[in-house]
Amino acid sequence: MAKLHVKKGDQILVLSGKDKGKKGKVLSSLPTAGKVVVEGINIVKKHTRPTQTVQAGIYDQEAPVYSAKVMVICPSCKKATRIKKAQITKANKVAWVRACKKCGELLDK
Ligand SMILES: [Zn+2]
Repeated sequence: MAKLHVKKGDQILVLSGKDKGKKGKVLSSLPTAGKVVVEGINIVKKHTRPTQTVQAGIYDQEAPVYSAKVMVICPSCKKATRIKKAQITKANKVAWVRACKKCGELLDK
């Protein structure tokens, strides 16, 4: 399975498209599609049929965006950054985690 550079819970910056320059939080990632769903980004109108519990209407819903169109915002230096890989040792095991290319802070802990 392809790995994305963005994960659920990341703050991201949108690089292109109608939401260019907007920031949001990743709600879910879809690695097989290479896409992520971001809070408040790429909103589409969704028409729903009435059911017993839900009224018919038009709802706003986030549609997935390509992960290549977003950049992770480092929680440490607050900048949109590229990701580098950093090696850490966890319980005597070597693991690779994501780190900020600008300040070096680990993004996965
Ligand atoms: Zn940083």
